[in-house]
Amino acid sequence: MLRFKNLGSGSSGNATVVQAGSPGCLTHLLIDCGLGVRQLDQRLGQAGMLAEQIDAIFITHEHGDHIGCARQLALRERIPVWMSRGTYAAIGEPDFDGLLRIAGDAQPIALGALEITPFTVPHDAREPLQLTCSDGATRLGILTDLGHATTHVLQQLSGCATLLLECNHDPQLLAASTYPPFLKRRVGGAWGHLANSAAAAIAQSVSPFGLRQVVAAHLSEQNNSPELARAALALVLGAATEIHVADGRSGSRWLSA
Ligand SMILES: [Zn+2]
Ligand SMILES: [Zn+2]
Repeated sequence: MLRFKNLGSGSSGNATVVQAGSPGCLTHLLIDCGLGVRQLDQRLGQAGMLAEQIDAIFITHEHGDHIGCARQLALRERIPVWMSRGTYAAIGEPDFDGLLRIAGDAQPIALGALEITPFTVPHDAREPLQLTCSDGATRLGILTDLGHATTHVLQQLSGCATLLLECNHDPQLLAASTYPPFLKRRVGGAWGHLANSAAAAIAQSVSPFGLRQVVAAHLSEQNNSPELARAALALVLGAATEIHVADGRSGSRWLSA
């Protein structure tokens, strides 16, 4: 069994719990910790969990909406934290008291009932990684924070039944927004964030390989809407693929991958 719950998504803070295994023998992975520790505890509580149940933390990159309270939580609960060498360098190489684990592109990591495979993405961070999670039967792709899809990204996502997929902005809303020009260029650029149409193109290229569910995530509050993200995905995906939209603050419900 492979399940997940997004606990919050977008610039107000990203965190997702992935659960694999069988009752009584579950593995829990927390992907990103982009919230204050009290807020994260609260949202884990709403997910029916305690922080002490988390077996590992994976940090995708050093931006504040992802790294958040990672070190504090890891030290408090003695949880190993995985991140790339570049992400660790970018946060100033703080002491993790033996809990730091270095992740690398296309190097699978076994975590109890879960196997995760990180992969490099184009984003304006030092060495950003996204990942797939598998329980041996089903594969979940996590893909937030990238400027564009590369062949490498699409290869890594092939065979995923579910995608948690960045649908950051609508280009017209971004162009018309109050963002300063440099920020518009950054967000809309090749090392920024995915437009709805770019996200839809990724989902479309994964869909012939068994995609049955997409959760739109990391939506911009100013430059997107759940309706626009959903419509862009629906335009390219058949009726057999379910579409959900993660809320910026409350995330998603528990979903089977
Ligand atoms: Zn982000
Ligand atoms: Zn980022």
